Amino acid sequence: MTNEAPAISPVLKQGANKRNRDAARKAVAVALYNGWTLVGPYNGSDTRSHWKCELKGPKCAVIEKFYSHIRGRKKKDGTVVPSPRHRDCIPSEEREAALAAWREQNGLTEEWAKDHEVL
Ligand SMILES: [Zn+2]
Repeated sequence: MTNEAPAISPVLKQGANKRNRDAARKAVAVALYNGWTLVGPYNGSDTRSHWKCELKGPKCAVIEKFYSHIRGRKKKDGTVVPSPRHRDCIPSEEREAALAAWREQNGLTEEWAKDHEVL
């Protein structure tokens, strides 16, 4: 997994500064850690982008989602409550193991997550 800034929507690109690129890079890292890959350009946090669910269920696919619906919600104690995934994803009781396998296969260790400001 690289730490390059993703392609940014041409609409946003005109005004994209370092902060925008860093935010896009972080969004993609958080998504990766949560089992989503970006498909096409990143359209910013207030517009849906296309994300592919990587949990390998038979109906996992590319869907349009807001980044905020991918990153999960942080509780006061710092733990993250995952967001609902998508219709017909794998059963919720299988997701933790599928996500662990995804992270393992892609080198998305806790150290990687810290280096990429995910945790
Ligand atoms: Zn899925």
